[in-house]
Amino acid sequence: MKPAIEVKDKIEQEEAEMRLRSTLNPEEQTNLVEGPTKFRKGPNQSELVCGICNEIYYVGDVTFSQAMSAMEEGIDNPFCCDECEADYEEVSH
Ligand SMILES: [Zn+2]
Repeated sequence: MKPAIEVKDKIEQEEAEMRLRSTLNPEEQTNLVEGPTKFRKGPNQSELVCGICNEIYYVGDVTFSQAMSAMEEGIDNPFCCDECEADYEEVSH
C-alpha cells in the first residue's frame, strides 16, 4: 500500500507537466491543431455536430470528408467529439 502523499505528489507532477506542455504549444500554432475544436481555429473550418452530445464542433477537411462519406453510407451523425469519445472509452473498459 502506497502512502497517500506519494499519490498527491504524482498528481501535482502531472499537472505541472500539462502546464508545461500548454506553454510549449501556444495558440498561434494554428496549423498544428489536431482534433475537433469548439471554435473555428486553424484548419478546423467545417462544422460537425457530435452525434452524442449534439454540441457543434469545428473540424479539418480530412475529418469532415470522413464524416461525410460515413453519412453517405447511411451512418447517422458519425462524428463524436473527444469528450464523448473519452466517456465512451471509459464505459467500454
Ligand atoms: Zn460529444
